[in-house]
Amino acid sequence: MTLSFESDLPPSEAIDAAPLLRGIVDWVEMETPSDRPDLIDVLLDSVEASFEGLPVQRRRVPGRDGCGGQLILRYAPAGVSGAPLLFMGHVDTVWDAGTLAERPVRREGDQVFGPGIFDMKAGSYLATETVRRIAAAGLIPPRPIIVYLNADEEIGSLTSRDTIEELAREAALVLVPEPSVGAAGTVVTARKGWARFSLVAQGVSAHAGGNLADGRSAIREIAQHILQIESLNDTEPAASFNVGTVAGGTRANVVPDHAAIEIDMRVEDMPTAERLIAEMLDRRAVGKDIALHVSGGLNRPPFVRSPAVHRLYEATCALAKYLKLPMAEASRGGVSDGNFAAALGKPVLDGLGCSGGGAHALHEHILVSTIAPRAALMHAMAMSKTFQTLAVD
Ligand SMILES: [Zn+2]
Repeated sequence: MTLSFESDLPPSEAIDAAPLLRGIVDWVEMETPSDRPDLIDVLLDSVEASFEGLPVQRRRVPGRDGCGGQLILRYAPAGVSGAPLLFMGHVDTVWDAGTLAERPVRREGDQVFGPGIFDMKAGSYLATETVRRIAAAGLIPPRPIIVYLNADEEIGSLTSRDTIEELAREAALVLVPEPSVGAAGTVVTARKGWARFSLVAQGVSAHAGGNLADGRSAIREIAQHILQIESLNDTEPAASFNVGTVAGGTRANVVPDHAAIEIDMRVEDMPTAERLIAEMLDRRAVGKDIALHVSGGLNRPPFVRSPAVHRLYEATCALAKYLKLPMAEASRGGVSDGNFAAALGKPVLDGLGCSGGGAHALHEHILVSTIAPRAALMHAMAMSKTFQTLAVD
């Protein structure tokens, strides 16, 4: 059955991708590594300026701890009330300033390459521009619309998490235009949670030839933990573990008194996360006279495909069908700020950005042919009362 939506929702064919692509490229050409608040301000200043004279409330949250600021745009024309629809994206990238000089934006057929274009300037720009156009046209949405842009997502959203959670709590639904990965139109309806740990072993050094028996090898200790932790991949179906770094020792003829590892853990649900985190923090030294220090914990909670997420996805499928757009869902091992919103029980749909590939990689690109379809979908989600009723009311 094809549900009937508002007839004034512009279809994808009615949207000119060329000016949207120019806008995306403008954002990409303002470099915004997470550790350059000054450069992030340049981008956020230009976004704010593009809303000059429009009835959109602008609020800047200043950066701190070396991280860039955040921008909150709120469009709530007179008479529009209720819990807002929240678009949530980040403007920081993993690329250092100067990357553009080496790898300027370039187009090859349907692909446009550029640092940060896929993750996630295309998506964040499209959400922002969607709302700018809605406000500029004086359109009246069913509920207030908020666009939130943070600048420390790539380094864990440590300084933005409070604001993310404050805005997500207030919202009726949360849309995250992170990159789309997979078949055409794919959105993300689940993400694993992410925890990180470090294990440091302190032993006793000694001469490897003269008095080996006096030594307590920290490497021998850590080696056992590496094998134990890696073997959890065979016994924990709802989690995965990667010992990603190992360090220790000084010379071959010295019993090492120091060794350390860093561990990345991904987990599908909160009860499993809580159990495994407790077990990790509770690890004890195996060897005699060895001190073991464990630190770390959850960075982002799991984004579970809850009934609220499922309902939002079903509504999105109906809307996409009406707009004749492809739609599919996927779960991802990588985290986003959508994890924080989903953990609050909110209906969250992620992966609403353009298709492409190469996040955090040299071949990072988007597909131009997916700009107009995503712009059409975002506009319709923000403006359709029918969609929002199906999704959350
Ligand atoms: Zn991202």
